[in-house]
Amino acid sequence: MIDLRSDTVTKPTAGMRAAMASAEVGDDVFGEDPTVNALEERVADLFGKEAGLFCPSGTMTNQIAVNVHTRPGDEVLCEEGAHIYRYEGGGVMANSGCSVKLLPNDRGRFTAEAVRNAYSDPTNPHLARTRLVNIENTSNRGGGALWDLGEVLKIRKTCGALGLGLHMDGARIFNAIVATGTSAAEWGAPFDSVSICLSKGLGTPVGSVLVGNKAFIHEARRVRKRFGGGMRQAGIIAAAGLYALDHHVQRLAEDHTNAAELGRALAGHSYVSNVIPVDSNIVVCTLRDASKLEGLLRHLEVNSVRAMAFGPGMMRMVTHLDVDRAGIDRTIQALASFAA
Ligand SMILES: *Cc1c(COP(=O)(O)O)cnc(C)c1O
Repeated sequence: MIDLRSDTVTKPTAGMRAAMASAEVGDDVFGEDPTVNALEERVADLFGKEAGLFCPSGTMTNQIAVNVHTRPGDEVLCEEGAHIYRYEGGGVMANSGCSVKLLPNDRGRFTAEAVRNAYSDPTNPHLARTRLVNIENTSNRGGGALWDLGEVLKIRKTCGALGLGLHMDGARIFNAIVATGTSAAEWGAPFDSVSICLSKGLGTPVGSVLVGNKAFIHEARRVRKRFGGGMRQAGIIAAAGLYALDHHVQRLAEDHTNAAELGRALAGHSYVSNVIPVDSNIVVCTLRDASKLEGLLRHLEVNSVRAMAFGPGMMRMVTHLDVDRAGIDRTIQALASFAA
């Protein structure tokens, strides 16, 4: 089966499992797991931050960040497709008591001007206090769209001037790093906090890291405990993260090449009306006739290919380390044999 539904379906490699099996561990809630400590330090260093916090999921790292940055009644700025708004079970509202204001965007990317326009006058007691801006890089609903670092730096300036926190949902930030050639430190610098997933393109079974300054992570550690995310001998899974940083970053370029191939193949079929430009490892297309989506997904399944419905008439395919070039060729053949 060629499973392109998500880059979360990867299974740990033999090398990764060996690293996990031999990991040195301790009780991480006591701060005594050397492997967790090493991973937190390494990721923080990479992104130019003082400290890191290892968590079970990217949802948790995002939700902790929102909680530390805000007070109940505050407002968070993001766009309609943002994971923190759309795919975290209403957590911004339920966990932190914040409202969300959605910014106009292009494939998940918005401008500093949009932030300024959405900002509410804090001296007006009628209005929710605008407190946090969330940037998702790459943007999942934007078809893996890459942000322009120049615009991010402008948003940083605006946030500084308006007293807003700036958080990056970097679930796929390593895809952006490899695709742009811009370093983790450069991507990290404009942000007060960054959430990084290890269980997407990097291929670990579980885990995300939140990075920020010491005071921020100190507070985040309390919130992680409150949310039930304190883990004990977590070095077993942190070891997978360290292994992935050593072995699974540069290879993301292959996933990007494969995704571009899929995008080109889809664009050549008359049953496809639009393919979002492929910037990284996500391919999103829209069918000319939305009612054909179910049939296409079934046809692919029969041909041992899995893709995901992504909205009316929309399909998503995500490339990752468990799909090789031969798998992409077979997928391209299956797309060609669909009788729309
Ligand atoms: C996957 C993902 C997350 C985190 O998801 P978890 O499944 O909770 O780890 C956050 N943001 C984006 C954009 C994602 O794709």
